[in-house]
Amino acid sequence: MKEIILAKYGEIALKGDNRRTFEDILVKNIKRRLAHLGKFSCGRRQSTIYIEPNSEDFDISTAVDEVKKIFGISAIQRCAVFQKDFGAVVENLGYLDGALSNAKTFKVEAKRSDKAFPMKSPDIQQSLGDAVLDKFPHLKVDVHEPEVTVRLEIRDNGAYLSAMRITGQGGLPVGSSGKALLMLSGGIDSPVAGYMMAKRGLIVDCIHYVSPPYTSDRARLKVEKLCEELTEYCGDIRFFCVPFTEIQEKLRDNCPEEFFTVIMRRMMIKIANKICRKEGYGAVITGESLAQVASQTLAAIECTNAAAEFPVFRPVIGMDKTEITEISRRIGTFETSIMPYEDCCTVFTPKHPRTKPRLSDIIAAENNADFDKMVIEAVEKTTVKRFKFGERTVFFD
Ligand code: ATP
Ligand code: MG
Repeated sequence: MKEIILAKYGEIALKGDNRRTFEDILVKNIKRRLAHLGKFSCGRRQSTIYIEPNSEDFDISTAVDEVKKIFGISAIQRCAVFQKDFGAVVENLGYLDGALSNAKTFKVEAKRSDKAFPMKSPDIQQSLGDAVLDKFPHLKVDVHEPEVTVRLEIRDNGAYLSAMRITGQGGLPVGSSGKALLMLSGGIDSPVAGYMMAKRGLIVDCIHYVSPPYTSDRARLKVEKLCEELTEYCGDIRFFCVPFTEIQEKLRDNCPEEFFTVIMRRMMIKIANKICRKEGYGAVITGESLAQVASQTLAAIECTNAAAEFPVFRPVIGMDKTEITEISRRIGTFETSIMPYEDCCTVFTPKHPRTKPRLSDIIAAENNADFDKMVIEAVEKTTVKRFKFGERTVFFD
């Protein structure tokens, strides 16, 4: 019996003339993602991508797990494929053993998109329900809250029987919306912010600011590990590591303490501006959440934003820490985020940061030092690494 995966798309289906472009990117992403599992083909029909193994050793369970992480897919069904012959389906109901032998209740859903098929959907539903009850007499039908839903779809090119349908990530395929630069710290919020924007179709690369010797190598490694974890959803990621020590020391020695955080943020943004321009990124992403800390009050964000030359996306701006944490656990970055390594923000944290800084005061304070030159130097000394999807190279002892 042949098994395949049907990957159904959600939002792409609503696209108009440019829908094909989105589909092409999605298919390309699926092909790259599953390439290591063996030979398979990837066709598309009726708002669905058919992932069809072409080799014996293609591991379909692993493939399902991987497809679950690809943006652009709203539902995933693992199915057995038959000729469009109802008898053949009934003969092979043994396929549902795994799903039904320990279940108590089920229902059948039938869909007939090939209108030439002689049975109508309600007839298919009824007859298949009867056949399932014959084969698995311990089951009861429950149309409201079944433990298992058995689905039979009669499509143009075959009949697809399935007891497994899982929700996909939704969103749009990575690469369909352009590319942006994520300011990735070691905290909980910024990896979630990156995940959320990749879900809207952006290629996400990361920028991280380090201040050795105030911040350790291990703190940087932690962020690299987060980067690797994000590749599960974002695909390959470029990682820009910016030396930030000199700027922070200059700041400490020349500016009022209560402005440290906001000026530091503005310098981070100014460096990001230059890298965006040089490397072709269309936006900056941060993990800021309104009023979470002093540097994220409305007034502080206004000051930070004034330094930006590109749109700044803050997808977690309206979320509570608990909501952000929930996503972070789900996507697998939480455990790394809570590792206890210092971040450059915490090194020179003022005791009493100004929660309502005025932009004019901030700019006046910045004029005490030649930050523009230092920003250019920091960009020149920035190093770049590439993290490839699926590779794990960052280790802690
Ligand atoms: P996070 O949990 O993402 O660290 P946070 O709640 O700790 O966020 P801040 O430390 O104020 O908040 O940082 C706000 C945002 O600024 C972060 O979400 C991140 O986008 C960016 N940021 C902070 N520190 C760095 C850094 N060292 N390198 C890159 N980006 C940073
Ligand atoms: Mg932080």
